[in-house]
Amino acid sequence: MTDTVSLTLAKRRSEILAELADAATPPPVLVAVSKTQPDEKIEAMLAAGQRVFGENRVQEAQAHWTGRRAQFPDLELRLIGPLQTNKAEDAVALFDVIETLDREKLARALAKAMEKAGRNVPVFIQVNTGEEPQKAGVLPDGLAGLLAFAAGDCGLDVQGLMCIPPVDEPAGPHFALLAKLAKRHGLAGLSMGMSSDYALAAQFGATHVRIGSALFGAR
Ligand SMILES: *Cc1c(COP(=O)(O)O)cnc(C)c1O
Repeated sequence: MTDTVSLTLAKRRSEILAELADAATPPPVLVAVSKTQPDEKIEAMLAAGQRVFGENRVQEAQAHWTGRRAQFPDLELRLIGPLQTNKAEDAVALFDVIETLDREKLARALAKAMEKAGRNVPVFIQVNTGEEPQKAGVLPDGLAGLLAFAAGDCGLDVQGLMCIPPVDEPAGPHFALLAKLAKRHGLAGLSMGMSSDYALAAQFGATHVRIGSALFGAR
């Protein structure tokens, strides 16, 4: 990796941080989505000062981060992809926040894994705001029930909501819906907004924006 590339990544990062600061006060936290990125770019992002990263697969995240944990104790790793119950223990061991809780079976598996590991990992609930059949996330109508089960029955620390709006629709109404649901349930965290719409998400109250390609370049 040349110095030019490191400079480019640092510059993109500071431009995005400036845009977020313009869009909202306080600005959302920038979650750098490092899935599929080569080590050189991850190193460049760390060198630029980035510490909060999102990954969508447990195994890839282990490869990226297990060795780097010791070197960067202030890292915050967020799971933003779908999680299978048989990976719950691995996810609990690695991640600092799990953003994709979307069903009771997974809530139960996570609670069990956290108890076993003696580690309490905060979670966000993923909401399928577009009610797309192929997409992960609890339907808006199912949120109250899942929240009661996860926080009440399972004792999970549910801190917020996350969504991925349909690609072929304006994102604004989905961000507004997620913000409304979070407010109704007294949840402070709102993970929404990606490369194409992070400034809009910030205006709708996002606390975390998940940015991959706009930060690292095309995957
Ligand atoms: C890949 C991914 C992102 C980042 O997408 P970009 O469009 O590259 O910014 C954000 N959220 C989730 C859940 C993802 O899987």
